[in-house]
Amino acid sequence: METQKAVMVSKKHIALVAHDNQKDDLLEWAHFNRTSLSRHHLYATGTTGQVIEEALDLPINKLLSGPIGGDMQLGAKIAEGQIDILIFFWDPLEAQPHDPDVKALLRMAQVWNIPVATNRASADFMVSSPLMKEIYERRTPEFKR
Ligand code: PGA
Repeated sequence: METQKAVMVSKKHIALVAHDNQKDDLLEWAHFNRTSLSRHHLYATGTTGQVIEEALDLPINKLLSGPIGGDMQLGAKIAEGQIDILIFFWDPLEAQPHDPDVKALLRMAQVWNIPVATNRASADFMVSSPLMKEIYERRTPEFKR
């Protein structure tokens, strides 16, 4: 596959998503990392976004709720180069009605080579990386139209 480079500037576009059983965990994590998160552009699926926006008083670009299309919207934004980082606390213990959309979102993140954190420990490592504050060039698929 042909590749090209995409530039991630220091102010990143970060997407936050948590399945219902993981929302408390993501909220607690976001609370702890509020200062770091406030330096970036934030996006979230609908309910996750509401919960975090209210609790942290941070502006969040809220999409539709995940099960009715929010995951697909985020996947499309990743493909369009509008999201740099995905923090997605998905539920490993409960089946989700929108599992195909969840898979599609994770697949888009993989295809477009964006950093993904799927649990609190990986999110901790990601948010404390020096690259969060730097310009970073990542490889992405090249498609000539
Ligand atoms: P929600 O969606 O933030 O609207 O709950 C999350 C998801 O299940 O994808």
